[in-house]
Amino acid sequence: MSDDGRRPPPGLEDIRLHDTRRRRLVPLEPLVPGHVGIYTCGPTVYAPQTLGNMRSQLYPDLLRRVLRAAGLDVLHVVNITDVGHLTDDASAGDDKMEEAARRTGQSAAEIAAHWTQQWLTDRRRLACCEPDVLPRAADHIPEQIALVRTLEAKGHTYVIDDGVYFDVATFDRYAEFAGLDLDELEATGRVENVDAKRHPADFALWKRTPPGVRRQQEWDSPWGRGFPGWHIECSAMSTRYLGTRFDIHTGGVDHIRVHHTNEVAQSESAYDVHPWVSIWLHNEFLELGSVKISKSKGHVLVVDSLVERGIEPLAFRYFFFQAHYRQQQAFSFEAVEAAGTALRRLVHHAVVAREAVGGDPTGGDPGRCDPRRRSFWSALADDLNAPRALTVVWDVIRGAELTAADRWSLLADFDRALGFGLAEATDPEAATAAGSDPRVDGLLAEREAARRTRDFTTADRIRDDLAAEGIEVVDTPAGPTWRRR
Ligand code: AMP
Ligand code: ZN
Repeated sequence: MSDDGRRPPPGLEDIRLHDTRRRRLVPLEPLVPGHVGIYTCGPTVYAPQTLGNMRSQLYPDLLRRVLRAAGLDVLHVVNITDVGHLTDDASAGDDKMEEAARRTGQSAAEIAAHWTQQWLTDRRRLACCEPDVLPRAADHIPEQIALVRTLEAKGHTYVIDDGVYFDVATFDRYAEFAGLDLDELEATGRVENVDAKRHPADFALWKRTPPGVRRQQEWDSPWGRGFPGWHIECSAMSTRYLGTRFDIHTGGVDHIRVHHTNEVAQSESAYDVHPWVSIWLHNEFLELGSVKISKSKGHVLVVDSLVERGIEPLAFRYFFFQAHYRQQQAFSFEAVEAAGTALRRLVHHAVVAREAVGGDPTGGDPGRCDPRRRSFWSALADDLNAPRALTVVWDVIRGAELTAADRWSLLADFDRALGFGLAEATDPEAATAAGSDPRVDGLLAEREAARRTRDFTTADRIRDDLAAEGIEVVDTPAGPTWRRR
């Protein structure tokens, strides 16, 4: 049975996902039938999470919704990195949290709390379901120390002045996961600060605080005072909540070569398992190109950058669905604005159908609905092919032979994956019709009068004032009208 007690919809019987490790589509075969554990690499909370980062949250959210619709019991763990992520992936450089604390004069804890809240707010604005578990690295130091001790006892580590390192030569499969060439790495590897490492790919499990230095975030350990390396947190926390083997691990493609390669090395060495994770999913990047961004958020493209331009956050969710998660997607404000327009049309049609049948989603004709239901869910069962699923949505909206009951039964069902809140939505087009706000209508009339007397300064000022409120004036053959952006 699915999340709402119904049978899994047709098309979701065989879910196939692209596993980075095996480099091909594989069937989802949960370790415990009926249950799926997912671990998602979450934010490093020293700065805002960009819209690019949010892509790495949107596809696990889609995955989780699809798996729930398929009737699977999902446990989704998303971690918060609030310690240990160094400015250089090769275990050199400073901890990003400590560096931000020095730069801003705030404490590392304040910075982490602030950006964690902002990220959670942004996730909600993009309609991502709440994670089931949201572990913070700094709250799991004992688990990380225990894991390093296990690796030490099994002979996978060595200690140098700087800290405890994982010795990649002790793990035969190290290069396999990402298809690395270790000899080439050895020949070209230049690793600042940590020249005592045996191999450039060796990575820190525990970093010692140098003598005479006091850090905001440091703990006692068998190897002296210090802090955990970044990679160890994900191995330790995923095990704590999902066990020593689990079904799906997600993250961005930039993590394949170092972070996830190192997670695999640690976990498979410590727990003697292979494969540690059944399926690895990686999203491609959102490409920003030369997009200019508002200054208020420190030149980073975030959810608020959309809101400042009058674009609703859910438009970005729709935009995300327009490309496959394993394809790069080029960002532009215009493209997200266009996605917002499409989303408003979609919501409008859904609300019209919903109201026509009094909100009852059970009335569709199976003969007309089932083939479309199957097309939609089988697109998502095919490695989360959201662009293909969207074409089914529009077929349903346009299909002249469908009744309102058919349409609402399908769209209400599809919204379990889409997450647009169609059951509660108001009609965005009804709200923007002229005549629904006397004040705005009055200003429009004033603008018209100004234009008739060729007072374009006044006319433009009124248009700009309305634009600042997020209201767009649209000149039509029937006269000017307006809509909220
Ligand atoms: P970080 O906070 O740097 O650890 O990043 C959080 C997540 O965002 C990681 O899974 C990254 O791979 C992912 N990520 C970073 N930049 C982008 C981008 N431009 N597009 C998509 N994902 C990204
Ligand atoms: Zn991670």
